[in-house]
Amino acid sequence: MSSLRNAIFSASKFAELIFFPSYCQLCEELLELPHEKVICRNCWESLHARRSSFCIACGRFFEVSGSPHVCADCLKKRPSFAIHRSCGMYQGKLKDVILLYKYRKFSVLGKGLAAFAYKSLGKEMDLWWGVETIIPVPLHPKREKIRGFNQAQILAKELAKYKGIELLEKKLIRVKNIPPQTSLEASERKKNVRGAFAVKNGESLKGKIILLVDDVYTTGATIKECSLALKKAGAREVRAITLAQV
Ligand SMILES: [Zn+2]
Ligand SMILES: [Zn+2]
Repeated sequence: MSSLRNAIFSASKFAELIFFPSYCQLCEELLELPHEKVICRNCWESLHARRSSFCIACGRFFEVSGSPHVCADCLKKRPSFAIHRSCGMYQGKLKDVILLYKYRKFSVLGKGLAAFAYKSLGKEMDLWWGVETIIPVPLHPKREKIRGFNQAQILAKELAKYKGIELLEKKLIRVKNIPPQTSLEASERKKNVRGAFAVKNGESLKGKIILLVDDVYTTGATIKECSLALKKAGAREVRAITLAQV
């Protein structure tokens, strides 16, 4: 940045601090650094990826330590996707940031959350090798219109940029507008989401390894249904990454 642009930038930041001070939505500290929006740098830096052992298929974190292995559920029946990984548990500050992002509609947090995901899982070779296309879990158009953005799309777009991988939007679509799943039992969620996704003009997906991106993994029903639709369209393998798991 040139010195003139720097000076203008600091002057406008100075004016903003005096006339329109804004505070971190999590810790209420004054946002005084350039580029700080909605939450402060300290709060961002306090997010850490969970480092415990996990299932190498469904990505569930294990309570006990040890090396990653296939969990009992996946031993019985492998999911329709090959690998899923989350950055952390859906709790504490990570949950708070996701809630601000999704429900208070601070879409600007998407970039920071994608940076966190990249820092947490960007070097996991098992997850990334051979991935040719990144696809966000779609929202139903009606829901997207109400929220104003698709939280998974912003994350997917940023991750695609970080990794230099093609992003494909509007190929995987949500054809069923189902109510928010949060209060439902696992079996209900599974039933609800069945047939909720379809692929449109999927020729370019044939034979590809695809990485799905979503914000929160609860029962895995959504990722499973998306994987089934993508594989029906000819995808070779589907993997998934989420910010957090419940
Ligand atoms: Zn803060
Ligand atoms: Zn598993």
